[in-house]
Amino acid sequence: MPDTNNELHQLLSDIQRVLLQQKELSGDALFLEPVAPPHEQETTPMAPHKKLPPVEDGPDLFGLTPSPEAHAPHMPAYPAEDWVSASSLSDLNAAICRCVKCPLGQTRNKFVFGVGNSNADIVLVGEAPGADEDMQGEPFVGRAGQLLNKILEAVHFKRDEVYICNILKCRPPNNREPQSDEIDACEPHLWKQLELIKPKIIVCLGRVAAQTLLRSTDSLTNLRGKIHNYRGIKLVVTYHPAALLRNPNWKKPTWEDVQWIRKMYDEMKAGSGAKT
Ligand code: URA
Repeated sequence: MPDTNNELHQLLSDIQRVLLQQKELSGDALFLEPVAPPHEQETTPMAPHKKLPPVEDGPDLFGLTPSPEAHAPHMPAYPAEDWVSASSLSDLNAAICRCVKCPLGQTRNKFVFGVGNSNADIVLVGEAPGADEDMQGEPFVGRAGQLLNKILEAVHFKRDEVYICNILKCRPPNNREPQSDEIDACEPHLWKQLELIKPKIIVCLGRVAAQTLLRSTDSLTNLRGKIHNYRGIKLVVTYHPAALLRNPNWKKPTWEDVQWIRKMYDEMKAGSGAKT
């Protein structure tokens, strides 16, 4: 038992760190079902040199494969709003950047639409803007963003070659997790972005992006290492860069993920899948 305030404080902060790490992997399931100890959850399901796994079935978005009928129950329609007819990302941004459909519209400093190549074959989706992003109006420009840049550079992606955006376009106060009403209001904007960009690969950075897009409550551990089918687009999941800052042990599996993703991208480019 700790016998000083310092020891007690250290113990509490260790417990908090472990709980945060578990939450990053499993979300609220942490409090609902038993979870494996952290070291068991950090296994690497997909070595990059291995053959790519088959695409997991999932909801269809843009009338690609599988057929829209097959997944209609999962697929809410766009809201009846003017921006739905936008024909470019800049038109879409102009149409939605004053959005006040959820309370975050009142508290944001800047609307964080997205950045990068509007014709990208690969789109990275994070959770929501943080303080730096809210000040600058650009996703992933803070500490997590610096790390993301390094990760991208390590596998020879330029930041302006890919497209980077978030589930939410406005910062939740104190960087708390997005709430379901905020996601419901904001996610259709992301659908439209994806419809305009038409990427071949979507990379979800962290559990919140993955669970949201896949309509899943599965843990990050289970969602990693698979190629999911997001409305006809390949979707893969890796750790959020902010989680890597909290737990450097996840850098190795992330490195393996991004090498695997790069391989998938190169194979797509070499095949007939690439855009011109
Ligand atoms: N975290 C995110 O999920 N997105 C950002 O843009 C910045 C930090």
